[in-house]
Amino acid sequence: MKSKELFERAKKYLVGGVNSPVRYFKPYPFFVERAKDCYLYDVDGNKYIDYCLAYGPMVLGHANEKVIKKVEKQLYLGTAYGCPTEKEIILAEMVVDRVPCAELVRFVNSGTEATMSAIRLARGYTGRKKIIKFDGAYHGAHDYVLVKSGSGALTHGTPNSPGIPEETTKNTILVPFNDEEALEKAIKENRDEIACVIVEPVMGNVGCILPKEGYLKFLREITEENNILLIFDEVITGFRLARGGAQEYFNVVPDLATLGKILGGGFPIGAIVGKREIMEHFSPSGKVYQAGTFNGNPVSVTAGIATLEQLDENFYKKTTKFAEEIANALKELSERYKVEAKIYQIASMFQIYFNKEEVINYDIAKKSDTEKYMKYFHELLKRGIFVPPSQFECCFTSIKHEEVVEETINKLEEVFKALTL
Ligand SMILES: *Cc1c(COP(=O)(O)O)cnc(C)c1O
Repeated sequence: MKSKELFERAKKYLVGGVNSPVRYFKPYPFFVERAKDCYLYDVDGNKYIDYCLAYGPMVLGHANEKVIKKVEKQLYLGTAYGCPTEKEIILAEMVVDRVPCAELVRFVNSGTEATMSAIRLARGYTGRKKIIKFDGAYHGAHDYVLVKSGSGALTHGTPNSPGIPEETTKNTILVPFNDEEALEKAIKENRDEIACVIVEPVMGNVGCILPKEGYLKFLREITEENNILLIFDEVITGFRLARGGAQEYFNVVPDLATLGKILGGGFPIGAIVGKREIMEHFSPSGKVYQAGTFNGNPVSVTAGIATLEQLDENFYKKTTKFAEEIANALKELSERYKVEAKIYQIASMFQIYFNKEEVINYDIAKKSDTEKYMKYFHELLKRGIFVPPSQFECCFTSIKHEEVVEETINKLEEVFKALTL
């Protein structure tokens, strides 16, 4: 077992053997040798159908030829200049053309940086300190938002990380998702003190939690009435739910949005986008400081352009259809095999919760049977299917999953049989 050996070696040099917590699972993660289309290939010669897709970015499947060709050309032209390029304008134009709230763009290197800077901008613009976030929402791994956080933090039992002073997070107010009253109360109690409400329009870091009908419109209205900025964290939903992301899909336009993952076409990137009047407060046109050596990196930007170019109508139709077919199969199988489960799907996102209750927020999601989920995960893995190794992550389909949907459904049936043994 080469993966096992590599993990032993990794542990000697890398904290916990991995560079991001969610990548670890018991007894040890498989180590990847290469990836192509919908498949990951590990160092032991195993091949997995990939529904994790690097936690979101790889919507065209792995090693997309058009992205490779353009990136290869760019590599010979240089990989970092510390000077502006035309390609940054081209990608920004594509973003503004697609994303409803986007009038100006600032490119950064990750989703984490994007939300950190968007919150700073909201605070700088409004002159207010407090922010509202939702229980279980994940906005990256920085101090303002790592409270009751989803993703790897929740999976490994540290939704509130040590090392973050109370003084930093005392201005972060938490409310449950999909609960109008709780938000009304929080806003009332902190009148004229709240800079922004930051929300994942579909929560993709505690599984897959959908907003109730009208909930995002409610967020838009209550923030507008109280002069609070609304930030959509679309690091997952951007370019995924629709060309213009969740704001197009639900027809609710926030003041600011953060992007990442898909935007970089498999390379590191992030972006803060929003209304001109607010965005202009970023330096150098304004005073809110934001900077980065690799901001607008030509390689990432090139991959982003080559990726967005390929996200046509057919892409949205097909990736949605694949996810729908799998979600329907999961529903049918859980009923047939009497496994208590709830299944959610929207566009190319889906997840199963081993839970009796409808999962509408973090508290309910947390009650899921995570042991059963890990059994489900390992039974799938044995059969050559890789889903995220956590109940609190989301599965994704890519445009390259066409030929494997049926195989996946057949394997799922075997897995449900095994779960009921
Ligand atoms: C992944 C993610 C982030 C963080 O992005 P990184 O590129 O990992 O820093 C922020 N917000 C959401 C909603 C995410 O899913």
